[in-house]
Amino acid sequence: MNQPLIFDIKRYAINDGPGIRITIFMKGCPLSCKWCHNPESQSPGVQKLYTESKCIGAQECIKMCPEDALTLTPKGIVTDYQTCTLCGICADVCPTKAIEMSGRPYEVEELMQIIERERVHIEQSNGGVTFSGGEPLLNAGFLMKMLDACGEKKLHRTVDTCGFSDSETLLEVAKRTELFLFDLKLMDEAKHKKWTGVSNKLILKNLQLLAESGANINIRVPFIRNVNADHNTLTEMAEFIAALPGKKPVVNLLPYHNIAANKYNKLGSEYKAFNMEEPTEEEQNRAIAIFEKYGIEAEIGG
Ligand code: SF4
Ligand code: SF4
Repeated sequence: MNQPLIFDIKRYAINDGPGIRITIFMKGCPLSCKWCHNPESQSPGVQKLYTESKCIGAQECIKMCPEDALTLTPKGIVTDYQTCTLCGICADVCPTKAIEMSGRPYEVEELMQIIERERVHIEQSNGGVTFSGGEPLLNAGFLMKMLDACGEKKLHRTVDTCGFSDSETLLEVAKRTELFLFDLKLMDEAKHKKWTGVSNKLILKNLQLLAESGANINIRVPFIRNVNADHNTLTEMAEFIAALPGKKPVVNLLPYHNIAANKYNKLGSEYKAFNMEEPTEEEQNRAIAIFEKYGIEAEIGG
């Protein structure tokens, strides 16, 4: 069983399924969406984050690095990734947390103990546990163990997925999941490849299979001008969703916000979404009207 690295555990989450939830974010994603708000989620491995504005130049990191991989420059501390072994010592000794490591493994039991501490809020709000990422299905063995453990404790289970996974595995996960938050980004295959790095064929097939299995699904659409906010794309999406069997999924349109640039800086990677824009209120209302025309409940956010 692959053991994923967890890069965040969010308590009091209110947008990842019903009620108050605890959301577990796993590293590793088969997609590389240009607008991704969690760039540290894409790589399955440990990564180092550096926030120059927090750095006071104490240079403890430089003194303690066993590989001499760090240099103080006019742009702050620079890491030589040819020699850095990602041991994490520099993050441990940094007095201001300007250096942080992203991703560490957890045992199922350890995560369950963390979840149990939130039980009061979860029960009072009819909430539960959400598994997100990255793509939680990338480590399906671990995910299913967690889902089974939550099921034994009668906790509501939500899986937030990009849908790009082996179909058989997805249906196995569905047997242990009360709600899917299923991302739908684009209907046109070439555009999907351009913006996310992969074809959408498997994703659409899996959405169809999941609906046929009777799974409870909310569809999440990252809603971005110049990417998928046009009439044709939204109409194609609405047609596809309207034709799905079973209970019609609710559509959550998630307007793009330019808030992730700083995270890319911390990782030292390029932010490719500078020319993307949040749709106007008028465009948002128009999008909702398109889904409603097909009998689909749609809302902004969620
Ligand atoms: S599917 Fe989600 S986590 Fe994966 S790259 Fe796209 S936005 Fe990021
Ligand atoms: S993670 Fe370890 S090897 Fe890399 S820069 Fe920090 S202390 Fe040096």
